[in-house]
Amino acid sequence: MVASFLTLEARMFLAQDIIKKKRDNQPLSADEIKFFTQGIADGSISEGQIAAFAMAVFFNDMTMPERIALTEGTRDSGMVLDWSGYNFDGPILDKHSTGGVGDCVSLMLGPMIAACGAYVPMISGRGLGHTGGTLDKLESIPGYNIEPSNEIFGKVVGEAGVAIIGQTGDLAPADKRFYATRDVTATVDSISLITASILGKKLAAGLDALVMDVKVGSGAFMPTYELSEQLAQSIADVANGAGVPTSALLTDMNQVLASSAGNAVEIREAVQYLTGEYRNPRLHEVTMTQAAELLVLGKLADSQEHALEKLQAVLDNGQAAERFGKMVTGLGGPADFMQRYDEYLPKANVVKPVFAETDGIVQAMDGTAIGMAVVGLGGGRRVAADSIDHSVGYDNIVAIGASVNADAPLAMLHAKDESSWTEGAAALRAAITVGADTPAPAQQVYRVIRGS
Ligand code: URA
Repeated sequence: MVASFLTLEARMFLAQDIIKKKRDNQPLSADEIKFFTQGIADGSISEGQIAAFAMAVFFNDMTMPERIALTEGTRDSGMVLDWSGYNFDGPILDKHSTGGVGDCVSLMLGPMIAACGAYVPMISGRGLGHTGGTLDKLESIPGYNIEPSNEIFGKVVGEAGVAIIGQTGDLAPADKRFYATRDVTATVDSISLITASILGKKLAAGLDALVMDVKVGSGAFMPTYELSEQLAQSIADVANGAGVPTSALLTDMNQVLASSAGNAVEIREAVQYLTGEYRNPRLHEVTMTQAAELLVLGKLADSQEHALEKLQAVLDNGQAAERFGKMVTGLGGPADFMQRYDEYLPKANVVKPVFAETDGIVQAMDGTAIGMAVVGLGGGRRVAADSIDHSVGYDNIVAIGASVNADAPLAMLHAKDESSWTEGAAALRAAITVGADTPAPAQQVYRVIRGS
């Protein structure tokens, strides 16, 4: 499906009139907003006009109908995937996270949901800043192609039930240009603009339902609980308003979610989670809660309890692991990846434990600092053009409340050489506070916001 044609009225708008209206805090019509997003995508609206519009929205915000129109305009600025020709016998479901550290939930949730009868065409992103990117993690797998043809993408979704790939230029092109201008004009942190940017891209995948994971805490994109909550509410309201049943969860990012942070190390943890070799309890709770929410939204389960039973069954009977393996093979990775993942995943030259400077109990973690430590090791990007070392990162990372001493390290550090290891060890020690108190047990899921 291609973008809908503009009405005659819409064609007669002027960008400067739309900017002026928003500057003067008057509500815009859906046609005006769609004219603007189309103009961003086709280049008829200049960078200066985009910047002025973004700043006007930043100061005067948008009403709910305006946010919905901006989201739909972003979605319709390019191709919207249409799965009706595939005759799938289940719903098209997806999840998205605002980004975190050691947040490899998508890698497990996609195959788990697929094994329960859904189809998951997951368009994911790369890491930027302190948060890791699902695509970077998947590129640790030799041969895995994150840019397959539309034909292969559809085939893998059909056969494995899940395909996690990168965004193509055809999906929501208005967002690419709009975001680039926001990035250099101090207008990223507007809840209305973030909502439309995230959802415009996600809804272009032609979904029946969506779960959104909005992170809260020291490693989260939004700086406070209140702002994370406002974003979650906005996303739930706008997505439901645009016709896609959506729940938004507020989940904890005050510590690394999984036991690892990096690329190959997180793929290894995801495989071990799916096969049952090792399941970090925090990661398990967040993954199961989101997946259960999605099964209920997609009408594959009639309650959370029923959904949790189905999910546990596909973990226990190996079907979720099988779906992951099928996806890897379908997208060009090794056929025996699930059996021999340790032989295929890249290994760092120096792998040694990092010990805390004093014995004690882990009190707190600075999630952003740990994410930036992974970047410092070479496992993430400082600028979009940087290349990545997939082998580096941390695993066996302690949890808040755990004891550390001469036998119990903070983590195992995978580095490319000794000097990088020394820097990575110092960065980790600085990011983890060790003391004498026993901290309160950490909560994983703070709130689930459902469509009204
Ligand atoms: N992620 C996005 O995709 N868009 C934003 O505006 C912010 C974060």
